[in-house]
Amino acid sequence: MKLKQYLWIGLLVMVLILSGLPVYSQQSFYKKVGFQVSTFGALSVGVYDGVATFGDIKQQGDFGLGTIEGLDGELIALDGKFYQVKTNGVAYPVKDEMKTPFAAVTFFRKERTLHLKERMTYELLQQAIDQQLPSKNLPYAIRIQGIFPYLKVRSVPKQKPPYPVLSDVISHSQTIFELRNVQGTLVGFRLPQYFKSMNTAGYHFHLITSDAPKGSRPKGDGAERPLRERKTGGHLLDGEFFNTDAEIEMLHDWHIALPNNASFERATLD
Ligand SMILES: [Zn+2]
Repeated sequence: MKLKQYLWIGLLVMVLILSGLPVYSQQSFYKKVGFQVSTFGALSVGVYDGVATFGDIKQQGDFGLGTIEGLDGELIALDGKFYQVKTNGVAYPVKDEMKTPFAAVTFFRKERTLHLKERMTYELLQQAIDQQLPSKNLPYAIRIQGIFPYLKVRSVPKQKPPYPVLSDVISHSQTIFELRNVQGTLVGFRLPQYFKSMNTAGYHFHLITSDAPKGSRPKGDGAERPLRERKTGGHLLDGEFFNTDAEIEMLHDWHIALPNNASFERATLD
């Protein structure tokens, strides 16, 4: 009789363990979610009004990119810390109450690392990563850490209403930084072609450096900061890569929060 009781308890424990497994896998599946505020199409036509606070965005991800209300620089989120790189090249910490008109984030958890040993241009890097992806039909979060031989990044200055379109801001007033032998992290996504009107199809990276490279430190502002805060970065335009480890995570879900404001409602997004 006693043996029978043990068997029943054993069976019960087994059932409890097995019934718990699908719940766990569902949760881990659900976490592979990309989240964006507004659309890149809206940003392109000058919808720069803030939509969500960074306090809210942090609930949706610890890793990602975007911009700040009024197109006030480039946004980088890494390990839960959010940075704003302005056109003076300085990365400032982003306050929770600040707002974004466009941002894309996820909770990044590395699934696999792609090793790319050769020296290559940014274009060849994209092709090399493409060749190793299991599918081009799903979005990926990508983190590349290391020392980069050369990176060309940019930032954009804060705009005032009535807002000019993004291409005008870029052609007239973006500031470009060329960094050599720079240590840092590229934070980004590779999105499928069918994302085209919602976000940037293909690769999109923003850089945050581990330390400010020599000569890039602006005078006055930030000069007295502790070393760990003196960072720069920006939106990646071009680069040279060598001995690169690209860490990737395939995402299975993508949420879009659409702006609830007049400028989005009135914008021509065709
Ligand atoms: Zn960008």
